[in-house]
Amino acid sequence: MTGGFLCTWTMVSAVSVSVRSLVEFILRSGDIDNRIPAAPDDAMIEGSRMHRRLQKASGPDYEPEVSLSCIYTYPDNPDLRVKVEGRADGIYHGTLPDDPHGERGTFVDEIKTTYRNLGKMTEPEAVHLAQARCYAYMYMQEHGLGWMYVRMTYVNLDSEDIHYFYERVERNQITEWFDDLMREYGKWAAFTSNWISQRTDSIRTLPFPFAYREGQKELAADVYRTIVHGRKLFLEAPTGTGKTIAALFPSIKAMGEGKAQKIFYLTAKSVGSRVAEDTLEICRSKGLKFKDVCLTAKEKVCVLDRPECNPDACPRAKGHFDRINAAIYDLLTTADNFSRTTIQEYAEKHNVCPFEMSLDMSLFADCVICDYNYVFDPHAYLRRFFAEDAARENYIFLVDEAHNLVDRGRDMYSAAFSLRELNAMSHLLSSKLPTIAEECDRCAAKLSAVSFRSPARYTLLFLPKWGFCFPLSRNISSGSGRRRGEGNGSLRSRPVSCRTRF
Ligand code: SF4
Repeated sequence: MTGGFLCTWTMVSAVSVSVRSLVEFILRSGDIDNRIPAAPDDAMIEGSRMHRRLQKASGPDYEPEVSLSCIYTYPDNPDLRVKVEGRADGIYHGTLPDDPHGERGTFVDEIKTTYRNLGKMTEPEAVHLAQARCYAYMYMQEHGLGWMYVRMTYVNLDSEDIHYFYERVERNQITEWFDDLMREYGKWAAFTSNWISQRTDSIRTLPFPFAYREGQKELAADVYRTIVHGRKLFLEAPTGTGKTIAALFPSIKAMGEGKAQKIFYLTAKSVGSRVAEDTLEICRSKGLKFKDVCLTAKEKVCVLDRPECNPDACPRAKGHFDRINAAIYDLLTTADNFSRTTIQEYAEKHNVCPFEMSLDMSLFADCVICDYNYVFDPHAYLRRFFAEDAARENYIFLVDEAHNLVDRGRDMYSAAFSLRELNAMSHLLSSKLPTIAEECDRCAAKLSAVSFRSPARYTLLFLPKWGFCFPLSRNISSGSGRRRGEGNGSLRSRPVSCRTRF
């Protein structure tokens, strides 16, 4: 354990869930199907940009990003309260576009960006509409309205076509609908609430599970103080000094005091994961009530020789979402250690995908043990926790062997491109975006010049305004950053590759 850091959090007493997580979790159904083309890597950034553009273009009466929340109390269990919160894309007042003389009302607007052909959409996606209805429910409750309109705004990011769907919702109807949704969520909320109270009680009485070694108590105290003060701690200590427990124990204690909701234990190698799992098992043997999940790469847990995630190729993919919640609940109420083998066993029992199941178990785990990628890699990070619209909670990050993070981070945030790609891009953009095409040409010229001086790879040190990279220095990191097929041989006979360095 050589490092750790954490972010901020606001404490709430009720079980808390975001509108999006709630509807996506309760209303999901159907198959896993990765044949549906994935959105481009920059889809999220483009989507946010489009959101802001539409909100801005909607005029001064359009109130963007309206935070809404409610505390839902279960009639049959008044002690169980769930805080539901989220942010509506917009609220405005007006009339329906095809009925300008009709009744004026308040609209809740939910914007969704997509690459789908909007012409083929006959109705909004059920989970999207459910999200908007939740906001309508909360807004009506807050403002005492008897009815309001829901507008679903779909925008195609390529064509910028916009398609609207409207719905008028009455307060009694939407209240009934929301009650049904929350009833479905009831058993999950009851479990979570009960578990947190069991966990907290067990943490209070948990002793340090070993006799303290020299300096270990001070180390644990430093970790605790770091969490309490919201700071970062880098620590370097020799193997065998008991770093893992010295970092985990105070983190667990801090969780018991409500200072964090989840621990992410990040490792570079699976041996590090096993040490963390074993340490938590020892704490459990001393009375700790604590759930942990160990995330394993898809290729390693897949039931096929090679993942082919679609209902035609994989029997687990077919109907996965119809069965997954039952599988999760079964495991959740039976075991505390969601290890790779346990997840595989329950996934088989319920005929669901073990990889997807492990990701879902992370929602309920107190500690998520996983590779650095799941937090830091822009292509692989856990969106359910770290996406822009994920619920903001307080997490503790314990980064094992943090010195590996430099090279791994360099890999994650590096890009490779070739002269051929630059030339093709310049050609493609020359008529519509000539300034960017010129930048491509300049990059290509510089790349070409340095390439012919030496066959070595070049490290790129900054991103100029168009996001292209100029090679500034000879490659200084050999080994881990290397990509297969690069580095040697005649540059005339193949593309020249470069890497950015963050
Ligand atoms: S079992 Fe394998 S192929 Fe099937 S859905 Fe899961 S990862 Fe994909």
